[in-house]
Amino acid sequence: YQPPSHAPLLQVPRNSSTQRREEDKETKRTRIIAMAEQNQTDAGRHQEVGHKSLLQSDALYQYILETSVYPREPEPMKELRELTAKHPWNIMTTSADEGQFLNMLLKLINAKNTMEIGVYTGYSLLATALALPEDGKILAMDINRENYELGLPVIKKAGVDHKIEFKEGPALPVLDEMVKDEKNHGSYDFIFVDADKDNYLNYHKRLIDLVKVGGLIGYDNTLWNGSVVAPPDAPLRKYVRYYRDFVLELNKALAVDPRIEICMLPVGDGITLCRRIK
Ligand code: SAM
Ligand code: CA
Repeated sequence: YQPPSHAPLLQVPRNSSTQRREEDKETKRTRIIAMAEQNQTDAGRHQEVGHKSLLQSDALYQYILETSVYPREPEPMKELRELTAKHPWNIMTTSADEGQFLNMLLKLINAKNTMEIGVYTGYSLLATALALPEDGKILAMDINRENYELGLPVIKKAGVDHKIEFKEGPALPVLDEMVKDEKNHGSYDFIFVDADKDNYLNYHKRLIDLVKVGGLIGYDNTLWNGSVVAPPDAPLRKYVRYYRDFVLELNKALAVDPRIEICMLPVGDGITLCRRIK
């Protein structure tokens, strides 16, 4: 436990006996604050699977979920979220607050033709499909069909599966083929990238041609569990350390890319929105 930064303000040592009394009081005070904070953390710990909260406290994040997200979450999204929570790789899922954000964003920009790279069980896919008009389209790609099929019955029940074209396999060769055909250029309103982080820059090179001028690409996990600011010797899990360098490289490249305007949001694990301007 680290005492809160305001605690030292109460330390006013004068002579040794008052100093001891003050210290005792201070120790007691620090202990009480520590207990209170622990209780608050335990009581307020959020339950959102796969979410690596970037907020100051879990209680604050739980507040967002309970006040704004869960009460308005469409029933199929709730069902898919609960189904995914039981899956061993549930850490990969898009969090409910990010799902809500994507859903609103797509409506705000009137997205119709979209793409998603990295589907898993389909939470962000469903958030997208529900936001699009009846004739909206999502080209969804993932190397793993099995996980997509886990969520598919829920997507079908929601009546939005007709908007989805699922392609099984690595996304990069598909993008290469698409870029070759001029008629795909500038044809996407929105592209959500949430797959292999070591390929994000390769995706960007292709997607910048496929998204329309004024359209958006969203790169997910650009704060990479907060590791983008971790000191070099920080004890990071192996996969976090491995992908961190790629995320850092992507963030640097996006920041200076004159073809886009960007906005990095601390939603979920960080999402960078790129609006193509030329
Ligand atoms: N957007 C998903 C959601 O809302 O649950 C989460 C996607 S998960 C973080 C990453 C996914 O990318 C995994 O399902 C994985 O199989 C997929 N993936 C990994 N490498 C890929 C590649 N080269 N091409 C396409 N998908 C890939
Ligand atoms: Ca993600």
